[in-house]
Amino acid sequence: MSEFELIRRYFSDLGAARADVSLGVGDDCALLSVPPDQMLAVSIDTLNVGVHFFPDVDPASLGHKALAVGLSDLAAMGAEPVWATLALTLPDLDLDWVHAFALGFGCLADVYGVRLVGGDTTRGPLSVTVQVHGLVPQDMAIRRAGARPGDAIFVSGTLGDSALALRLRQDGKEIPSELQQRLDLPEPRVALGLHLRGIASAAIDLSDGLAGDLGHILEASGVGAELELKHLPLSPRVAEAVAESRDWSLPLQGGDDYELCVCVPPDRIEMVEVLATTLGVPLARVGWIRSALGIEAHLPNGGRSLIAARGYDHFTAIHPG
Ligand code: ADP
Ligand code: MG
Repeated sequence: MSEFELIRRYFSDLGAARADVSLGVGDDCALLSVPPDQMLAVSIDTLNVGVHFFPDVDPASLGHKALAVGLSDLAAMGAEPVWATLALTLPDLDLDWVHAFALGFGCLADVYGVRLVGGDTTRGPLSVTVQVHGLVPQDMAIRRAGARPGDAIFVSGTLGDSALALRLRQDGKEIPSELQQRLDLPEPRVALGLHLRGIASAAIDLSDGLAGDLGHILEASGVGAELELKHLPLSPRVAEAVAESRDWSLPLQGGDDYELCVCVPPDRIEMVEVLATTLGVPLARVGWIRSALGIEAHLPNGGRSLIAARGYDHFTAIHPG
């Protein structure tokens, strides 16, 4: 099968049909219409074999995750997902693999109304790059720089599940299915992000661990934070691991959560709590913004400790491959 036949068969009709796509896959460029009163929000992420996923990864999960991580970025900005492009590097032509990958990607794209409008297909070590495009009304995007002293800090979902799944795999232990699912099939918090427009003062999606990602908000906003560790939202498995080890690195430094960390001014806290209930999204209030720089953790035993605003970093981390 030729490169063009592969693209035509698997990638020319993926995701939702959209009226704002004048020309999608098949020409030198896609032609897309941005409404005049909206801004285009753009984000790109690469997943590399041996760095972001194991060589034996389920291809449908990889297709899902490659798009989900981008949609999570759009969610954090309050942008509505509309289009995606896909650069796929494959070591060989395994049609069953490509079919499953396209299925995982396409299902998630359908769910969020996203159209795959173009891409590139090349041969080399397995790698997936997805660029996502979203729309947000002029000056309504939620940035990292808006946090102010007194704002409450909220976190969606639970923290540390993917990191625990990875740790178990590295230790050669069995991975409970609910943890494997958090690692393989993250659900981007798109609805939450859209509804936080005009409410949140700052937001970020959690891809490299709460300490590091919250640290980005703090740096951009010129503020610090206090975290109440006993309020961190933990699944039973992570709670157990933290209790056994008395080590908070899973929820604080663990990556791949794809939850949102959101800052909310005091007079809008109640609104956000009602919003979370209405949307059915678990949202935990984990701390507050202060003017003194740094992150101070309140330990469950009453002690306090400054924690490093550091998360996963590709150029300092040791990883397989
Ligand atoms: P060009 O040679 O002009 O770069 P390509 O041969 O790379 O064109 O791609 C042909 C068409 O197929 C283009 O419209 C491109 O956007 C699309 N395309 C290529 N690979 C993919 C892919 N993996 N997913 C979606 N569209 C793709
Ligand atoms: Mg090309």
